[in-house]
Amino acid sequence: MSKKLVILGAGESGTGTAVLAKAKGWNVFVSDLGQIQEIYQQELNDNNIQWEEGKHTEALVLDADEIVKSPGIPDKAPMVVAARAKGIPIISEIEFAGRYTQAKMICISGTNGKTTTTLLTFHILKNAGLNVGLGGNIGKSFARQVALENHDIYVLEVSSFQLDGNFNFRAHISVLTNITPDHLDRYDYEISKYAGSKFRLTLNQQAEDYFIYCADDSITQEYMHLKTGNAALLPFSVKNSYAPGAYVTNNTLHIQHNKQNITINMEEISLRGIHNTYNSMAAAVVASLLDVRKESIRESLCNFQNAEHRLEFINRVNGVEYINDSKATNVNSAWYALESMEKPVVWIAGGVDKGNNYKELKALVKEKVRYIICLGLDNIKIHQAFQDDVDMIINTMSAKEAVHVASRLAQKGDCVLLSPACASFDLFDNYEDRGRQFKEAVRNL
Ligand code: ADP
Repeated sequence: MSKKLVILGAGESGTGTAVLAKAKGWNVFVSDLGQIQEIYQQELNDNNIQWEEGKHTEALVLDADEIVKSPGIPDKAPMVVAARAKGIPIISEIEFAGRYTQAKMICISGTNGKTTTTLLTFHILKNAGLNVGLGGNIGKSFARQVALENHDIYVLEVSSFQLDGNFNFRAHISVLTNITPDHLDRYDYEISKYAGSKFRLTLNQQAEDYFIYCADDSITQEYMHLKTGNAALLPFSVKNSYAPGAYVTNNTLHIQHNKQNITINMEEISLRGIHNTYNSMAAAVVASLLDVRKESIRESLCNFQNAEHRLEFINRVNGVEYINDSKATNVNSAWYALESMEKPVVWIAGGVDKGNNYKELKALVKEKVRYIICLGLDNIKIHQAFQDDVDMIINTMSAKEAVHVASRLAQKGDCVLLSPACASFDLFDNYEDRGRQFKEAVRNL
């Protein structure tokens, strides 16, 4: 009798896992408490995979030999608690799919910069002609690619929730971009637990593997003792020189380790801002470890276009630049956005605050921001934090209104920056919706 795999959550990762598990001979059952999108229903049917939606039937779920849980389902969900109590192993899609590939695994995690670093790393490796797949939180699921494609290398963006379900998985190269307080509601409000989850990136790493991390990040440094495995360490920094590692001197980026020694002029790198210097360093270190030639790395760093909603330049209207950084849903990412601005800023911020401490932004706001336009239902904390630092703070209730007000206040030579430091769910469906409405309003000016 084949073993039974139950998959909780039938999004891209759950459905991809189901397809892979079926191909590998498992008896598969997919259960989703919400509605399953039609394309996934169709795919499950086409593959003769049993599924249910709108409920978890306990008898069917708890009959599993193993469960793959979508990272969106919290540990406190009753079905997860019941399965744990019964001793059923609960693993991530990455743990499961990792069993069925011999490919080299590159895993990228961190509070901010995951998507940018993952896309950039993929871009460099792909341009260098390597047979590489892109997965994790982005695009096609890793499991689906293992089932249907055959890559030599995977670059995966992994969240802390996915890492929590990894046990035997081994990353050949792991990258930790940074750790700042976020998602703490899922970690009993303890940063040490969240950090512990991030350091699971290093689980099972061997001496020939690498762990790449930001040496300037104080929380990463504080919790380095949580690292396991014995990968070689490759720190990156804009403050100190690390060799082996990556660092910056005189506007030149240096990468040094036993495989390559590379220098790149910072002017040639397409992504702007210190945060993106970090992301560029991390991606370039990965590529250099995989023996991608220096010229190829340089060329890819130079022609990379970042994903939508991340410091995305939209337009210049009446001498004012408009920038969409809707993905900045926490204080730290907004800090880097403000830090990278070289012109006076009209700053659009606000939304659902996840316990923000705005103190960290005060100095930058004082130095760079002329006006704050709040885009959220409850803006009281923003008013309290910055009322003495800017000329005016104005409340708005829609992206259109915010852009309209910004266009009136901004003067030639200013920039209007949407970098909210908050989630978007009070006024928008999600950060993409917020970013798109903002862009549309700018284009209609
Ligand atoms: P993630 O996938 O981890 O959410 P993204 O690359 O999508 O990260 O970027 C999210 C937000 O964080 C954007 O506003 C971006 O400008 C900012 N950001 C990107 N890289 C970093 C970094 N290394 N440190 C801090 N903030 C960053």
